[in-house]
Amino acid sequence: MSVKTKAGYVAIIGKPNVGKSTLMNATIGAKLSIVTPKPQTTRKRVLGIYTQENVQIIFLDTPGILAPKYKMQSAMMDYVSSSIDEADCIIYMLDVTKYKPQHAVTENVKNILNKIYLANKKIICLLNKLDLLKDVKEVLPIIAEINSLKLFADIIPISALKENNTQNIIKTITNYLPDAKFYYDAEMLSTQPERFFVSEIIRENIFYMYGDEIPYSTEVNIIEFKERNYGKWYINSEIIIEKTSQKSIIIGKNGDKLKALMERSRSAIEEHLQTGVYLEVFVKVRPKWRDNTTFLKSFGY
Ligand code: GDP
Ligand code: MG
Repeated sequence: MSVKTKAGYVAIIGKPNVGKSTLMNATIGAKLSIVTPKPQTTRKRVLGIYTQENVQIIFLDTPGILAPKYKMQSAMMDYVSSSIDEADCIIYMLDVTKYKPQHAVTENVKNILNKIYLANKKIICLLNKLDLLKDVKEVLPIIAEINSLKLFADIIPISALKENNTQNIIKTITNYLPDAKFYYDAEMLSTQPERFFVSEIIRENIFYMYGDEIPYSTEVNIIEFKERNYGKWYINSEIIIEKTSQKSIIIGKNGDKLKALMERSRSAIEEHLQTGVYLEVFVKVRPKWRDNTTFLKSFGY
């Protein structure tokens, strides 16, 4: 007799910086999606596969919901809508520390949630960053307001960072998954190629090392990715920026800043790939790439 399995797709959506990527990494138990203290870190859809016993949940981590100001952000929002369309069930995440009474959910988000609700997909609302509240009772009025919207199948206060209540989320999701065969092998954690994760690791370090507009004007492309049976793997990458003036900031005095970025990135990539790596980085200016469809396409958007 074959064992009955449940499997399906779950999109994690919400405003920037609420903890979506942290949650996905916590439930998968691996760092698939990059996390930084800055908003708009996630730009594409990152897939993470959770498999335990007879359940397989395929999480789709998405960029934060915002009003697009340029084409890159429109592409980011397309990842949000396509993930919603593909998902069997939706996680909507809020940051409890950003709660404003009577405005728990903005109009823009309410429209998105209404559509999901009308499409008969279950929405689980996660109230995240509970650990930052001085008193957990502060979450009660938030639950009351969220509940009054009548959009959510469940409302669960959590801390993605402290992995508090994450098992409860898995149980809740499982209730809403269809009976289905596993989509992927139980050992698989993602379907995205290693070169994607490598470019994300470099981008994450850029978010940490540079201020102001730099992280937002930067893209990272992997030009060459050579696995080797012996010796170090070879990775050739380019950092794309918008203006010549940003080039000197990226490179720094005597090239110190870029050297430090390469050092940090290389060691994180080695950690991720579990092998020695030879990393090359070139900095290139592509004026207004964030508003250029051709550039965006070539960068994989
Ligand atoms: P995303 O933009 O929604 O994907 O958010 P991230 O997962 O990148 O997290 C944004 C920031 O919030 C990071 O600095 C995280 O460490 C932090 N964060 C995420 N979840 C929690 C949480 O439960 N508690 C606290 N204190 N910080 C969190
Ligand atoms: Mg994210």
